[in-house]
Parts: sequence; structure tokens; C-alpha cells
Amino acid sequence: MNSFREEVTAYLGLGSNLADPASQLRRARAEIAGLTGVSERAFSSFYHSAPMGPADQPDYVNAVMAVDVTLDAHELLRALQAIELMHGRDRSGRRWGARTLDIDILLYGQEQLHYEDLTVPHPGMTEREFVLYPLAEIAPAGLEIPGGGRLDDWLARCPKRGLEVLSVD
Ligand code: ATP
Ligand code: CA
Ligand code: CA
Repeated sequence: MNSFREEVTAYLGLGSNLADPASQLRRARAEIAGLTGVSERAFSSFYHSAPMGPADQPDYVNAVMAVDVTLDAHELLRALQAIELMHGRDRSGRRWGARTLDIDILLYGQEQLHYEDLTVPHPGMTEREFVLYPLAEIAPAGLEIPGGGRLDDWLARCPKRGLEVLSVD
């Protein structure tokens, strides 16, 4: 039904801090790339980051993936949530609590979307070092965040909070 939809480049933020986070992200990468209507364009380094929100949880591994998609934004969200569930994602805990796998849609082409279940660009992305640094690694120079200024400007203002590239990915 989407065979005539144009391809859109989307950026996805991946994070995990439970059950071997790096391997969660490696598996998720392959699963995302294997979705119908999705192909991988680029994948950042893996980053080690301090938790956002509750501090009494393990550190995170984060990465950003660029994909070319013919799915619409909601189809993509549902497919990514199905992958989170396959990784045992449990949403019953605290906000920003520990998780096996989180996949956020950071950008969907140049679109600005404001649905109850989907806001794009992702609202937290411009303040989060574990999103901005990996995104800058794989995004085109001078990327504009739709409705939100330039990636480089946000990056220049964003403290690293101990963010480090992981040597093994
Ligand atoms: P945050 O969104 O602040 O990073 P979180 O990732 O921990 O927090 P979740 O529990 O994973 O939050 O998601 C809560 C809801 O956010 C999801 O059910 C989803 O419908 C909604 N949502 C809104 N915008 C997006 C987006 N751009 N990408 C993914 N989910 C989104
Ligand atoms: Ca998130
Ligand atoms: Ca999420």
C-alpha cells in the first residue's frame, strides 16, 4: 500500500542500560535494517552515557541510526515499538527508568509532527548529549532541525556529562 510513497531519511535514537546493552543495540540495528520499507543509511559509534532522570540505575549505551524509509511515521513507530517489545521492554517502571531497549524517532525527514502518540522532532533531542553527539557523527554538515535551529548550534551548547565513545561496538 505504500509502494508509491517517497523515501524519507529518518534518524533514530537507540538506548539500553540492561541485559548487555551493546548487544541489545547490535541486535536492534539488524532488526531495524531488516524491516520491510526500511534500509540502513548510517550508524554512529556506540556511546557510554550517564543516566538521564533517576540516577540509581546503570549507565547507558546509546547510538543513532539513519534509515531510509517508505513507511509513514506511525508505521515506523509501531514497527520500532514491536522491536522494543521483542527485547523485553517493560514500560511499567518509573519515567526514564532502566530499559533493555528504547528507540526514539528523532527526525523524520523535514517533517514536524504533533500527534498524541508521536512528536517529531523528538522533544528532548536538542538537550541530550547522548543524542546530539552521535547524531552529529552521521548527519550531514549543517543539518537543520525542523522548527528548531541548527544541530551544530545545539551541540556547541550541550555539555558532554561524561559521554564517551565506546571502543568496542
Ligand atoms: P523520552 O521520549 O523523553 O525519551 P522515553 O523514551 O523513556 O522518554 P517511552 O516510554 O519510550 O519514553 O515512550 C513514551 C511514548 O512516547 C510512546 O508510547 C510513544 O507513543 C511516544 N512518542 C512520542 N513521540 C515519540 C517519538 N518521536 N519517538 C518515539 N516515541 C514517541
Ligand atoms: Ca527516549
Ligand atoms: Ca522512547
